[in-house]
Amino acid sequence: MLTLESSIQYVKGVGEKRAGLFNKLGIFDVDALIHFYPRKYEDWTLSKTVKDAQSGEVISLRATMVTPVTEHMVRRGMTLYKCRFSDGESIINVTIFNNKYLAKALRLYEDYILYGKLEKALTYASMSSPKIEKAEAATGFHPVYSTTGKLTSSAISKIIKTALDNLPPLEDTLSSKIRQKYNLISLDKAVRQIHFPADNQEIESARRRLIFEELLTLQLGLFKLKGSKRKETSAAIHRDFTQEFVKLLPFTMTQAQLKAMNECVSDLKNRHPMNRLLQGDVGSGKTAVAAGLIYTVVKNGFQAALMAPTEILALQHYDSLNALLSPAGIRIELLTGSLKAKDKRTIKEKLINGETDLLIGTHAIIQNDVEFKNPALVITDEQHRFGVKQRAALACKGEGLHTLVMSATPIPRTLGLILYGDLDISTIDELPPGRQVIRTDVVDSRYRKRIYKFMKDAVSRGEQCYIICPMIDENDEDSLGLKSAEQYAEELSQGEFKGYNLGLLHGKMKPKEKENVMKAFLNGDVQILVSTTVVEVGVDVPNATVMVIENAERFGLSQLHQLRGRIGRGSKKSYCILISDSKSETAESRLMTMKNFSDGFKIADEDLKARGPGDFFGERQHGLPQLKIADMLQDFDTMRTAQQCAQEILMRDGSLSRPENKLLSQRIAKMFESLEY
Ligand code: ADP
Ligand code: MG
Repeated sequence: MLTLESSIQYVKGVGEKRAGLFNKLGIFDVDALIHFYPRKYEDWTLSKTVKDAQSGEVISLRATMVTPVTEHMVRRGMTLYKCRFSDGESIINVTIFNNKYLAKALRLYEDYILYGKLEKALTYASMSSPKIEKAEAATGFHPVYSTTGKLTSSAISKIIKTALDNLPPLEDTLSSKIRQKYNLISLDKAVRQIHFPADNQEIESARRRLIFEELLTLQLGLFKLKGSKRKETSAAIHRDFTQEFVKLLPFTMTQAQLKAMNECVSDLKNRHPMNRLLQGDVGSGKTAVAAGLIYTVVKNGFQAALMAPTEILALQHYDSLNALLSPAGIRIELLTGSLKAKDKRTIKEKLINGETDLLIGTHAIIQNDVEFKNPALVITDEQHRFGVKQRAALACKGEGLHTLVMSATPIPRTLGLILYGDLDISTIDELPPGRQVIRTDVVDSRYRKRIYKFMKDAVSRGEQCYIICPMIDENDEDSLGLKSAEQYAEELSQGEFKGYNLGLLHGKMKPKEKENVMKAFLNGDVQILVSTTVVEVGVDVPNATVMVIENAERFGLSQLHQLRGRIGRGSKKSYCILISDSKSETAESRLMTMKNFSDGFKIADEDLKARGPGDFFGERQHGLPQLKIADMLQDFDTMRTAQQCAQEILMRDGSLSRPENKLLSQRIAKMFESLEY
């Protein structure tokens, strides 16, 4: 007998070699094996005759073998086996490549099911390397798994069958009450059916059950991570300093900013900690709102923290908040990974002694040894770059802290409800006045000369430019022929832009180097910045008015939108030029979306329509665990139901410690253990 914890090697038919291949697929034990679901199914039930089938159609065919196998050596290492089958009306010529084992196993005058693509010519029909099984053994649906190396789908299927035959019935993760309420079949049945379905209906009921369970597990995990919500806050804010704060600003806040500010402040005054998402398109002015909240908290006698996803961004926040808030007596420190150990120590000491009011930094500030004296507020900027786990770690810096996450990621509203399920949401839906619409053009590289001229004109007016190159992975064949930012900057500074001040920014540079380049760009010393997407988030240089993006087709639309948001931040007219030589229609229409739309949410919707949910989530920027069977978008309705069910379960058993929730608890741990910090 096997148990779920048994190593994959103990399953009959799995030797050391195969175990290695399973490991490659992320499967180490029997539990993972039986939860390794098919990608799709081949339907062997729809048996057709040659006469009824179209040429080129994939069919399953019941036929008798009518000639013996002949062997034809084409060249070394390539042998063809040929024979004929009859379906009673027509003759089918079958060719099998190299598979001696299969060829030898075929018996004259026996009945088989052939599955594959049928080619029909005028006088005969043929199938090339069809799958062949004995007629009586062929079942209805054949699962197709993701395979690796010599591990075929049918081998995986057989091994899963052996495992299930040698396991006791699976204990159910969901109580019978829940199963009844949501009309779900048992886990045992679902797992058997997902691997060995008799018909479509069995696939459906199995999928329904497994998707529900997966999404329920996800929702419970998220609720647990965000668990501190219902606690009382330890940092009650009594006084509102908004009026005092707005006087510090060099501009007047927009109505939308003020509204968001008020929503946040009324949260801060509440008995329970604030848990809010501040949403706003790039350039909408989220930082000012954050600054206002920091001011309010500090004036009430507490400390605040602000976490940014990159050092550049952290530094920029430090510079601008310092300029704004330190004249008002707020003491600010910057903690990043690249500081010397001694400086880090000093900063940490000041923090715990209460000599610092605001700590700004990268994820360095969520490390265990960073302790506050009396923290009240934690803000994460550009939150899409952080996983839920990081957010939770930051919230754990103090009991019942107020948290604000800021995001410009234009995710469609429906997804927001999932990703930020229990957060309150404030939206800044208005840009500061005086902003000009950025003009966007899509051109091919024949325009390069004119583009360079255009940039030079901008520079001569005292404005600045970005040139963005795609990130290059040297191991990636698709990247061949693309210039790295480094190479390109070198070429330009020797050639076209000789005598100009060029800066270079890419991910492999040391933080200090990046910082220096960014500073030089910010204060105008660098006129043209050649960069990879490291400038993508948040960076604010109002004097930059031109952005040229090379190989634009290689970027996601949301990414292009973020990039474009780096310009048009001042009052001057700004231009975004997308260079692409791609002839593909989809690439063209995607880039036209950029030309035609400036609203991030619209662009995201278009992107979603064009690419489908798989790709939209492809980059896994959401920081959620990977799902095996559910699809966050397609299974959205189930997600809502699962969310509701999760709430019901937690209402009765907040810590999930009751016996009926034991297995669920284990599932949550499993799902979330793969998340990285
Ligand atoms: P984001 O929401 O993308 O983080 P920022 O907070 O960086 O945007 O703000 C973008 C720019 O707009 C900054 O230069 C900021 O000083 C400016 N800004 C913000 N609010 C206003 C306002 N109400 N009026 C004028 N300029 C503003
Ligand atoms: Mg920002």
